[in-house]
Amino acid sequence: MRSQKPYTNATFTHRVDHEAGRHRPPRAPGEPRVCGTCGAVYRGRRWAPAAPGPLPVTETGAPAEVTTCPGCRRVATHAASGFLYLTGAFVTAHRDEIERLVTGEARRALDDNPTARIIAWEATPEGPLVVTTTTEHLAERLGHALEKAYDGDVRFDFSHENKLARVYWHRD
Ligand SMILES: [Zn+2]
Repeated sequence: MRSQKPYTNATFTHRVDHEAGRHRPPRAPGEPRVCGTCGAVYRGRRWAPAAPGPLPVTETGAPAEVTTCPGCRRVATHAASGFLYLTGAFVTAHRDEIERLVTGEARRALDDNPTARIIAWEATPEGPLVVTTTTEHLAERLGHALEKAYDGDVRFDFSHENKLARVYWHRD
């Protein structure tokens, strides 16, 4: 049976972004969208934090399409882009304090990018305390925040190919 789909190759070819974002229109097709999990709104090709008030509508007044933002998707699937490794006696002795600092910094980062989230805290008895994040930048930001607050030694290791950041912070 032949497909009756009204698509042509031209439709798909046209949608490919050959310009790699250099000449992006201010509004992408299908905007705005809203994350059904966290309420973040995608508009102007970026995600913005959920805002109070009525739900966003399209130019024609239709309700925004409900979707899942990359942050919620990565949290749900544990797809980390950032890894923050905390080691040293200071980490063990000040665990609660460190956790508050890191959590507070992550909360502030949401204003800049609501899809930047902490995915998990993973601790093993002998190994490092590992904080995984949805974005490379958040792991980097948390590393800087720790260094600023407590000194210690911080090292950044970026793999741009894999879009991964590994941040090592140590204090004895
Ligand atoms: Zn979301």
